Amino acid sequence: MPPLYSAPSILILGGTTDARLLAAALAEQGGRRVELSLAGRTKAPLAMPVPTRVGGFGGAAGLADYLRAGGFSLLVDATHPFAARISANAVQAAGLAEVPLISLHRPGWVAQAGDDWRMVADVPAAVTALGPAATRVFVTLGRQEVAPLLAAPQHHYLIRSVDPIDPPLPLPHLQCLLDRGPFSLEGELALLRHHRISHILSKNSGGDAARAKLDAARALGIPVIMVARPDKPAGMLVENVAGVLGLLHQTGPAMDRGA
Ligand code: NAP
Repeated sequence: MPPLYSAPSILILGGTTDARLLAAALAEQGGRRVELSLAGRTKAPLAMPVPTRVGGFGGAAGLADYLRAGGFSLLVDATHPFAARISANAVQAAGLAEVPLISLHRPGWVAQAGDDWRMVADVPAAVTALGPAATRVFVTLGRQEVAPLLAAPQHHYLIRSVDPIDPPLPLPHLQCLLDRGPFSLEGELALLRHHRISHILSKNSGGDAARAKLDAARALGIPVIMVARPDKPAGMLVENVAGVLGLLHQTGPAMDRGA
């Protein structure tokens, strides 16, 4: 397999800030064809710095076909840490199409002194962890994962999402807030105080854009019910955009072995 620095044509699986920043950095460097792929979950995605396609490929075989048909020489999986299926497909498709795969998996958040985190395996377990008595919950799970809240209608929910929840959730005590990060510590403190939040439901997504709510929770002594990450299959693993760019500049036997 040729070394990565010579990869002239790159497909990035995106849907994250990291994917957008990586695409911008590669476009800025020039000299390569770069395409970004989105699942199409966000109704009005931000403007992208490279040509973009939208929608599923039809599984790993479909992604492999797309890589072959487009003549791509490198696949980069920069999807969200909780998007496990597309990452498994990426590993399989890269093998089928004989294209190297770089997996940009950003690290999860780690609890610090003063944090009160309760780790759970999934969203239904997070809802159970709220307990039977009514609480005031700030929900930052993503709009496609909030259906399990219906099992506990006694709580007051404040759900923040980029797009509206559709269809609406028939919960008696529900407020929805449309907003897109990055969020500031001051803003999160004000929000938690204003809504008298007693618990936060979060996924351990990692990254900087959504971290402020955890700093605010620590400052206010609010418990965070944290959904643990799924295992994501990976190719050559890096933690950030610089890691991808570093791999692309590496040459020689170490890189050839990795590829
Ligand atoms: P998923 O469960 O891993 O993927 C489900 C299916 O969606 C995949 O099998 C694939 O369909 C399609 N898909 C996913 N990402 C794609 C991409 N970048 N380009 C083309 N098709 C894609 O993923 P998910 O949790 O639904 O997340 C969907 C997208 O939203 C991802 O791109 C992810 O980066 C972004 N996102 C997810 C979260 C989250 O918490 N899950 C949060 C923020 C952003 P086919 O099998 O038909 O190819």
